[in-house]
Amino acid sequence: MEYFNDQMMVEFDSVSKNESFARIVVAAFVTRLDPTLEEIADIKTAVSEAVTNSIIHGYENKQGKIRIETVIVEDTVTIIIQDFGIGIENIKRAMEPMYTTKPDLERSGMGFAFMEAFMDELFVESEVGKGTKITMRKVIGENSKIE
Ligand code: ATP
Ligand code: MG
Repeated sequence: MEYFNDQMMVEFDSVSKNESFARIVVAAFVTRLDPTLEEIADIKTAVSEAVTNSIIHGYENKQGKIRIETVIVEDTVTIIIQDFGIGIENIKRAMEPMYTTKPDLERSGMGFAFMEAFMDELFVESEVGKGTKITMRKVIGENSKIE
């Protein structure tokens, strides 16, 4: 089995400056798959949305750790973004487009919708009081193979 043979893990604190750090570090790791600029932009957007959610919702801007694990198997990248914050009570509802628990902060409730649109797969696991784990997957070079 070739699983988990090309893996990267980073952990950092829940400060907004780490949003750009997170998307750059994941993008740099994925470079070995020779992604297109569009694929890199998609991954950066999805990572940003998940990390922002951990900071704003998971930790409600208080201090906490965010962990990102990235695994490459053949041409597929799996990105796991985890926080140990408040968790999500109703995952199905949270994932609905336009649903937000913080409309006052000018949130549009589109974070999960973007993650779903820009990645091939999205799984959300969460437990109230324990935290949230987002697993996203994307096949790199999908379009060039179809041609
Ligand atoms: P936007 O992403 O458009 O700024 P948003 O963050 O509210 O708005 P989503 O990213 O789709 O929208 O998230 C929907 C809801 O799911 C959030 O309002 C929040 O209640 C909940 N949520 C998302 N991520 C987490 C998390 N890591 N921890 C706790 N709750 C979360
Ligand atoms: Mg969001």
